[in-house]
Amino acid sequence: MNIALIAHDAQKDRMIELARAFRPTLAAHRLVATGTTGTRLREQLGLEVECLRSGPLGGDLQIGARLADGAIDLVVFLRDPMTAQPHEPDISALLRACDVHDVACATNVATATRLLDGLRTGRA
Ligand code: PGA
Repeated sequence: MNIALIAHDAQKDRMIELARAFRPTLAAHRLVATGTTGTRLREQLGLEVECLRSGPLGGDLQIGARLADGAIDLVVFLRDPMTAQPHEPDISALLRACDVHDVACATNVATATRLLDGLRTGRA
């Protein structure tokens, strides 16, 4: 599976903890991430992650374009619901693309945990 990982700044520590908890599962798949999220996953967990541009510089759109091409199977997008993001239109576009193409997208840790647990046990 091709898994996309994105976390807003206030959620990046949570993303690291989530990825740490599911490290063996994630390591068995192809991972792609926005720039800063991906760099932290590589440096802190040693995961092999393809890093695209940072979200505010178009990374969300890059992932959206891949998703529209059928090259992304699952998205974990830990959003910060409390802070306005400068690239909100890009974020909305990516979430819309998930719905258009019926790609599973977790926007919080609870949903991501269920999805990744499903992947771990072969149910997702
Ligand atoms: P980042 O981008 O991983 O480069 O911080 C995430 C985002 O802001 O959408």
